[in-house]
Amino acid sequence: MLKRIKALRYRLQSRTPLQLRICMSFVLFTVIVSGLLWLMETILLERFYYAFKTRETRSIALELLDTYANCSTEEFQHALSDAAVNNQICISVFDSKSRSRYQRDVMDKKCLLHGYHNYIYPFVEELAASEDGSISLTVFDEQIGMQTLVVGYVIGSQEDVGGCIFLNTILEPVGSTVRIQKRLVLYFSILLLVIGFVIAVALSNRLSVPIVRITDSAKRMAQGDYRTRFEGGSCREVDELARALTYAEHEISRADAMQRDLVANVSHDLRTPLTMLKAYAEMIRDLSGDNPVKRNAHLQVIIDETDRLAALVSDILDLSKLESGSQKPELQTIDAASWLSDIIARYRGVSEQMGYQIHFTPGEACQVTCDPSKMERVICNLINNAINYTGEDKNVFVRQVNTPEGVRVEVRDTGNGIEEDKIQLIFDKYYRSEHHGREVVGTGLGLSIVKAILKLHGFTFGVHSRVGEGSVFWFLMK
Ligand code: ADP
Repeated sequence: MLKRIKALRYRLQSRTPLQLRICMSFVLFTVIVSGLLWLMETILLERFYYAFKTRETRSIALELLDTYANCSTEEFQHALSDAAVNNQICISVFDSKSRSRYQRDVMDKKCLLHGYHNYIYPFVEELAASEDGSISLTVFDEQIGMQTLVVGYVIGSQEDVGGCIFLNTILEPVGSTVRIQKRLVLYFSILLLVIGFVIAVALSNRLSVPIVRITDSAKRMAQGDYRTRFEGGSCREVDELARALTYAEHEISRADAMQRDLVANVSHDLRTPLTMLKAYAEMIRDLSGDNPVKRNAHLQVIIDETDRLAALVSDILDLSKLESGSQKPELQTIDAASWLSDIIARYRGVSEQMGYQIHFTPGEACQVTCDPSKMERVICNLINNAINYTGEDKNVFVRQVNTPEGVRVEVRDTGNGIEEDKIQLIFDKYYRSEHHGREVVGTGLGLSIVKAILKLHGFTFGVHSRVGEGSVFWFLMK
């Protein structure tokens, strides 16, 4: 049942437009404020006034008792007269034999203490019977036809009564005030309702218009229009929403472009080897099938192209994983010198078979923090390139330099170098220069993978190259 109520509430809430909700909230607020004012007028005002008047009269009585106990007779009479006149209170002081000692009448004998019907004795009895030696009573005075307040205190203590003091004051009728104020509250409520409604409409417009605009833009973006602008403008939250959506749009469009780029490049790169594979397979079928030498040569081309295809596919997958940002480096702290020597030692056998010399200049032992397997990919790609592009002397130089900023690793070759205007392109995906010194097999993704891994680590990197002098690829590990 509770679940159903919750679901219904949620459905109602989610279907109520923002403007209506804000207006409803304001109306509710006005109704609550008016209701509270009404309640205060009708129920609380009279009670509050009586309680206030009683407290005030009691405190005057206590002050007078204090003066009576501590000051001279003249001073007391003076204080009594002041209190009576300033507060419009009639005051009578009696001694222990109930004889009148001091009095002050400010109502021209129209009070309960000094009036013609001497009312004093019932109050004296009530005071004698009271537990704490004080009374405060609301009594209707028939002479003036009004409610009055009588406050009495025992002078001295209940055990040793030295007399008593009585104060009598009119309780103003609040009925007529309440009637006037009720009318005022009514006008005030109507005014509040109108003002509240106007503010609610203005505010809801201000809030909802940009949200509606942003929703329209989001719908357009969902349909593939990535030039949509998200405009905030009404408040910080809406501005932030607009900024977040602009960022999301930018990222989605980037991912979309990357995906299209990837599909175009991959299909282009796959088509060439596949055409070759088909052509050579057809050649074997139609021409060289019976000639073992030619057939083997053609089969070798097929095998090489298949290897290239496999390398290309695995590079594409690795790069897309790295670029998607889903991969985090598994960081370890290792010694750069021994790590580099291990990698180069593994290389040496293979490359030396083909006549290449890899010269390694290690630095002193130095700790670096990186993902060793990913960084191995970096160094291998750079050495592979250096082997592929180095000069006729077939020398490749790897150097470790410990600097204050970190361990700098350099891979140098003696090849033709890279033209200055091409240097910034070589780290781009699928960039391959047209002039290779010798027949070099590559996917055009090696340096993009290097760049992605180094960026993942936050390591800096670069190339120094001059045409005819070879190239130095470097990166700085920390
Ligand atoms: P691939 O080597 O598979 O073509 P890379 O991304 O590794 O792809 O390299 C991109 C391009 O950068 C290469 O085609 C080549 O033109 C250039 N390049 C890379 N390394 C060197 C180097 N050591 N010397 C000269 N050019 C290089």
